[in-house]
Amino acid sequence: MNNNLLMKSVQSINTVGPRRAASLQRIGIFTVGDLLYHFPRRYEDRTRLSPAGACAQGGIATVRGTVLASQDLKPKPGLVITKLAVHDGSGVFYAVWFNQPFIKKILTPGKNVYITGKVDRSYGATQLAVEDYEVDDGSDSLSAGRLVPIYALTERLNQRQMRVLIKTALTVLNNQINDFLPGEIIEKYHLPRVERALCQAHFPDREKEAAAARKRFIFEELFLFQLVLAVRKRDITRSEKNHRYVPEGNLLRLYQKNLPFQLTGGQRKVWEEISADLDRPRPLHRLLQGDVGAGKTVISTMTMLRAVESGLQAALMAPTEILAEQHYLGLRRDLAAIGVEIGLLTGATRKKERELLLARLATGELKLVVGTHALLQGDVSFQKLGLVVVDEQHRFGVRQRAALGHKGNLPDTLVMTATPIPRTLALTLYGDLDISIIDELPPGRNPVKTYAVLPRALPKALSLIREQVNLGRQAYIVCPLVEESEKIDLQAAVDLSVDLAANDFKDFQVGLLHGRMKSVEKEEIMLRFRRGDIKVLVSTTVIEVGVDIPNATVMIIMDADRFGLAQLHQLRGRVGRSERQSYCILVANPKTDEGRARLRAMTRTSDGFVLAEEDLRLRGPGEFHGTRQSGLPEFKIADLLRDGKILQIAREEAQALAQRDPYFKSSENRALLAEMKARFGEGIDISGA
Ligand code: ADP
Ligand code: MG
Repeated sequence: MNNNLLMKSVQSINTVGPRRAASLQRIGIFTVGDLLYHFPRRYEDRTRLSPAGACAQGGIATVRGTVLASQDLKPKPGLVITKLAVHDGSGVFYAVWFNQPFIKKILTPGKNVYITGKVDRSYGATQLAVEDYEVDDGSDSLSAGRLVPIYALTERLNQRQMRVLIKTALTVLNNQINDFLPGEIIEKYHLPRVERALCQAHFPDREKEAAAARKRFIFEELFLFQLVLAVRKRDITRSEKNHRYVPEGNLLRLYQKNLPFQLTGGQRKVWEEISADLDRPRPLHRLLQGDVGAGKTVISTMTMLRAVESGLQAALMAPTEILAEQHYLGLRRDLAAIGVEIGLLTGATRKKERELLLARLATGELKLVVGTHALLQGDVSFQKLGLVVVDEQHRFGVRQRAALGHKGNLPDTLVMTATPIPRTLALTLYGDLDISIIDELPPGRNPVKTYAVLPRALPKALSLIREQVNLGRQAYIVCPLVEESEKIDLQAAVDLSVDLAANDFKDFQVGLLHGRMKSVEKEEIMLRFRRGDIKVLVSTTVIEVGVDIPNATVMIIMDADRFGLAQLHQLRGRVGRSERQSYCILVANPKTDEGRARLRAMTRTSDGFVLAEEDLRLRGPGEFHGTRQSGLPEFKIADLLRDGKILQIAREEAQALAQRDPYFKSSENRALLAEMKARFGEGIDISGA
């Protein structure tokens, strides 16, 4: 944020000391601006105060009254119930707290309070199990008698404290910040000015005001983002690369000749687009989209071969070691036949090997390298890096994507993703990239037969694996692993693999793969699975992206209701990679309607776009961080799927502005540029000011 007040540390607020500042940092709040942009997750309507006697049993109510007396009850060891008698003007009710005896020191007799809590009426008395309270000191209340903001919290900070903190920050502003949005735009779209919007977003007078404020911040966020894209696009279209490609030659002909299949129509179409781009003077900057299994790898290989033929170097970056290694093995196999060498660089590469590899890249002796983000390390340099390919790009930040490019001099950049994003949205989201889509799967692919079954049907699923293994096939069993319960989850996977190896599958090899294993162990397991020695691989989601072992035809997903739809779709994409019929068994006993609906969607369709839409529908527009699972970048307040309309407007306005004043020379636009840098500056090159 460009305004000095907003840039100040939260510690400039007098109720924030080092301890509280540290707590706030945990949720990304460093400055006063960060705090004010920590928007409520929702509002609770506490506009209507009711007398305690009129509250509905079981509901949540807010009551105002005067404290009469307090009492501690200790019904059993470790439990203290603090009970306050409160008079609300028409009668007495009781407010109860559990294990918070200090309350009676704060709410002493005679004090006026607002109490919000769950209503319990019995024997003619009304009791509120307190969820929230506030002392009524005669000033405007933050927690009662209004729409009350509910925030995402951090440790040692409760809702009430957060409200007070934000209120204090708002008071500090005191009408002194400038709006960086151009006045014209504010008027055209009737957006509230920043100061008012901040007040209304936190403590709205009415629902309508809250909505208008939110709209402003959504617009603001998307507008700035679109401006950044416009600037990048401007720089790319105006730049000229200083490497050239020679026409397609023998390497490509041979490579294609050796392929055991013909390119699909979709592949040929995108290849033409990419190839034509390479021949242009400006760098290629393209997103290659294609559902799981569409065959993006072949296209990236052909692109890299054109670079090699032209005497240029090319680097392919993948998000996981397993995937990098897979690409390396596949490329080595395919390229050995045509005499092209390739290197592998990951975090697991040994020191000696690494040194040699780096030396050969620096001299240009080695043309092709595959790796993880290890490629981004400072000492990795190229003699002439002409092409950068990023696989499963949604797994990387914009920053990392750009970083590899900086190792060359305006290299061509191809990024690939299997995240199904509707085209209009993709255009808007990746406004700085051209887009190619492989819109068909290779021929002969049957949709994966998908079933959702209860845990007690697991033996049947296991016998399906046995059948397939007897036919020479292989199988995955995927176990969920979430951070909060990582230890337990990991143990479940280990136990399952041990149990299967000792019992059901004792006559063939069962392997175990998870993220906590050492790189060499992972490699070893993948190698044995790839070779077909291991028949059944019990794994956590480390196999989620990109893994390609066409001989695997069964996947069992345990506790499938714990996965999001996008993730289930990615996982299932690991089977059905050949002409053989494949199966996916979702084992779960879903506890929620949403969980059930997800599984049903999976059994009904294998179309990534349909699933993406279903995902959006299920999670509903209220979800703040709804984009996480679909692999789209995360915004603070905007939701790209929900806010499509605002996104469109933001894009149009951003493009118009970038046309009018491409270098942000006007004083009004300079403020905008400063804000863009502050928010998206890291890793994004916003030159031109
Ligand atoms: P993704 O697009 O998910 O990265 P891959 O590139 O890994 O997919 O390809 C999936 C599988 O399909 C691979 O085993 C690949 O060899 C195979 N494949 C790719 N193109 C074709 C094609 N035109 N015909 C048949 N099989 C193909
Ligand atoms: Mg892939």
